[in-house]
Amino acid sequence: MTHSHGWAAQGSTTPLAPFSFSRRDLHEHDVQVDIQYCGVCHSDIHSVRNEWQNAVYPMVPGHEIVGRVASVGSAVTRFKPGDLVGVGVIIDSCRSCASCKAGEEQYCEVGATLTYGVKDRYGDLTQGGYANNIVAPDHFVHSVSPKLDPAGVAPLLCAGITTYSPLRHWQVGPNQKVGVIGLGGLGHMALKFAHALGAHVVQFTTSESKVADAKRLGADEVVISKDAAAMKKQASSFDFIIDTVSAPHDINPYLEALKRDATYCQVGLPDKPPVIFPGHLIFKRRSWSGSIIGGMAETQQMLDFCAEKNIVADVEVIPIQKINEAFERVVKADVKYRFVIDMASLQQP
Ligand code: NAP
Ligand code: ZN
Ligand code: ZN
Repeated sequence: MTHSHGWAAQGSTTPLAPFSFSRRDLHEHDVQVDIQYCGVCHSDIHSVRNEWQNAVYPMVPGHEIVGRVASVGSAVTRFKPGDLVGVGVIIDSCRSCASCKAGEEQYCEVGATLTYGVKDRYGDLTQGGYANNIVAPDHFVHSVSPKLDPAGVAPLLCAGITTYSPLRHWQVGPNQKVGVIGLGGLGHMALKFAHALGAHVVQFTTSESKVADAKRLGADEVVISKDAAAMKKQASSFDFIIDTVSAPHDINPYLEALKRDATYCQVGLPDKPPVIFPGHLIFKRRSWSGSIIGGMAETQQMLDFCAEKNIVADVEVIPIQKINEAFERVVKADVKYRFVIDMASLQQP
C-alpha cells in the first residue's frame, strides 16, 4: 500500500482536518501522481456537507488535481515519472458500455467512479486530491502543458471541462449570443471559453462588485440579475445560456431570455430543484438541458486548447490550513475566481 496524507471531513458538520490513509499498490495500468495543486470546487462543499445526501466519511475531497507522475505500472506507455499531469472528477468507468465506447465516460451506464467518496472497482473508498498523492488508471490521467501555470491549470480539470464540453456540444461560436449565469469557478471558465470561441457573451451576476472583472474576463455585456428591468431587456435574444449557480434560484427569467429553439444548459447542481413555468419552454420550443464534466478525450482536447490559447483559471492560491475559511468564502460567492491549494503546505505544522 502507498501511504497518503491529506485533509478529510469526518462528518457533514465537522471542519476538514489532517488525515492519514493508504492507496492501493499500482496495478499495471495505474499511475501514481504526487499532487502539487488541487482546486476547491463548490461540489467539494456540497459533498462534504452532505447536501446531495450521498456522502461517505471519512472524505478527502478534491478533483481538480495537478501534479507530477511519481511512478507507473508496467503497462503504462503514455506517462513516465516526472511528467506534469492532471486528474479530474472521475478515475474509472466500465470502458465497455455505449457511453464509454463513445468516449463519454462521464455518462458510463454502469456508473463512472468518482475521484472521491465512492467504492472503486477494488472495493476501496476513493479519496480525492486534498492530499499528497493519488493513484488512477492511465486512461483517466491527462497531459498538462508545462507552458501553463500549474496552479491555474488545476481548476481546468473540473470547472474547465464542465463548461468547455457543453459549449462545444451545443456548437457555440461566432454570431451567437451566449449567456453565463454566475461568476464563480465554473462561470469564469465558461466566460473565458465562450469568448475564446468567438461568441458575444453576456455575464449574469448577482454581485455588482464583479462587473469590471467580468468585462476583463471577456464579457461583452454584464447584467445584474437582480435588476428585473435589465433582465426583461434580454428577452428572446440568446442562442445558448449556461447556468453555473450553486444555490437554488429562479430560472424562469433566463428561460424567457432564450430565442426560439435555444438551449438552457444546467451545470450548477443546487440541492433543491427549480420551479419551471412550462409555457417558457412550450411557446418557443426551448430546451432545458444539463451536462456533467466531459469525456477523457475531450478533457485532453480542452487542456490542449487552453495551452494553445493561453487560458488558465484566475486563482487565489492558499495553504491547506486555510481550507475551512476558503469553504466559507466560496459559499458567500467571495472568491476570485477559484481557490487552489498548494500541496507543499501539507508539510507545514
Ligand atoms: P462557485 O465558485 O461557488 O460559483 C457559483 C456562483 O453562483 C457564485 O460565485 C455566484 O455568482 C452565484 N451564486 C451563488 N449563490 C447564488 C444565489 N443564491 N443566487 C444566484 N446566484 C448565486 O461554484 P462552482 O465551483 O463554480 O460550482 C457551481 C455549481 O456547479 C455547484 O453547484 C457545483 O456543484 C456544480 N458543478 C457541476 C459540475 C457538472 O459536471 N455539472 C461540475 C462542477 C461543479 P455571482 O456572484 O456572479 O452571482
Ligand atoms: Zn468540481
Ligand atoms: Zn461504461
